Amino acid sequence: MSDAENPSEFEPVQVFPETEEMDLRPGADNCYKCTTCDTACPVAEVDDGFPGPKFQGPEQWRLKRKEDEAVDDSIMSCSNCMRCDDACPSSVPLSQMHNTARGEYVDEQMDKLSREYLRNRILANYNTLAMLGSKVPRLTNAVMGNSLVQTVNEKLLGITGEREFPEFAEQTFREWWEERGGPQVRSEEKRVAYFHGCYSNYNTPEVGKAMVRVFESFGYEVVVPKQRCSGTPMFANGMLDDAKRAAGINAENFKGLIPEGYDIVASCTSCSMSLRQEYPELFDIDGIEDVSNHTYEAVEYLRIHEDLRGAVADATVSDQSFAYHAPCHARNQGLDRQAVELFRELDGVTIEDVGDSCSGISGTYGWKEEKYETSMAIGEEMFDHMHHAEGDVGMTECPTCSMQMNHGTGYEIKHPLQLLEEAIV
Ligand code: SF4
Ligand code: SF4
Repeated sequence: MSDAENPSEFEPVQVFPETEEMDLRPGADNCYKCTTCDTACPVAEVDDGFPGPKFQGPEQWRLKRKEDEAVDDSIMSCSNCMRCDDACPSSVPLSQMHNTARGEYVDEQMDKLSREYLRNRILANYNTLAMLGSKVPRLTNAVMGNSLVQTVNEKLLGITGEREFPEFAEQTFREWWEERGGPQVRSEEKRVAYFHGCYSNYNTPEVGKAMVRVFESFGYEVVVPKQRCSGTPMFANGMLDDAKRAAGINAENFKGLIPEGYDIVASCTSCSMSLRQEYPELFDIDGIEDVSNHTYEAVEYLRIHEDLRGAVADATVSDQSFAYHAPCHARNQGLDRQAVELFRELDGVTIEDVGDSCSGISGTYGWKEEKYETSMAIGEEMFDHMHHAEGDVGMTECPTCSMQMNHGTGYEIKHPLQLLEEAIV
């Protein structure tokens, strides 16, 4: 009997070639050209030369159907703030498209010997730079704070000399963690694995310490697995191979804890965003969905599982006023109102939301010499609102928004976990 006579033997004809790459064309077809994303884009608002997210996303993907079409170099001007994702009423996967296109542009079209590539590689791998710098923090701080070094950095590498390089702490968060002997609370029921990221480890260990103390005060067992950078600066610079390596190590080190009852909590909203959304969107790694589904931002986690509002309402701190900025990546996770709503209940505290604008720095974006002015123009609205808010202390969850807030206003900036520690520990 021939195959045609026996339907069970029928071999379907492969019409399209097999591909390992993600197919984002159906997402592109969902776009009905309303331009809402373009209106929400902070870069397009201040830079007339930037074609905006609709072009970067669905339009480029339509063009990509013709195989010889190159990725437009304007993709490198997208800051990866992800505000367009939030704005689109048709759930077009804009940032997934941007990240994929940027990765392809860097891989296939960018000159690997160019100053821009070298600079972006350095910025994207801040983790390595910080690991080396924090071995001799005083020396590194003195060198990086030197105006001559800043000028050389700008001329040679294209890293702006306008910004103050973040100082490295004398003792990293992980060194402190080792010194105290790890977890001080043990629990079978309440367990979290802390994703501290690079900045809380090398630059602001006080944020990581606050996170540990606050969670332990609620009876949580906190563990701190070995980890790499979340990948956020790598996505933003199209270094997807680096990001995939980091994601693989992070997934490997955290996924085994989930069956033991641990959830993953991050103190940086870009780190939680990365583990939750960008990892599963971009990488096919064993256990990545599990890691994504069990990741939370730290205060969000406590809001869900504890009477955090009650604990804060019962507390009192010395009189303080804060100008709070919600990072774009917090907004994307629906967390933009949580700090303001929570601390409004805290005796002694006045807190004001400085509006829904982007801070403009977007991680490594505002560190690039050619993007510095754009970054500051975007931040203008936030600086203005901060100056009009009561007091002169800022608050945010994102380390680079914090740098921009300080740079634009001179204010000291705190993380919500630090105020929470002061209130309830
Ligand atoms: S991610 Fe941000 S900068 Fe990039 S296109 Fe979207 S809104 Fe614009
Ligand atoms: S907001 Fe969504 S549907 Fe509207 S133009 Fe942008 S991608 Fe298309």
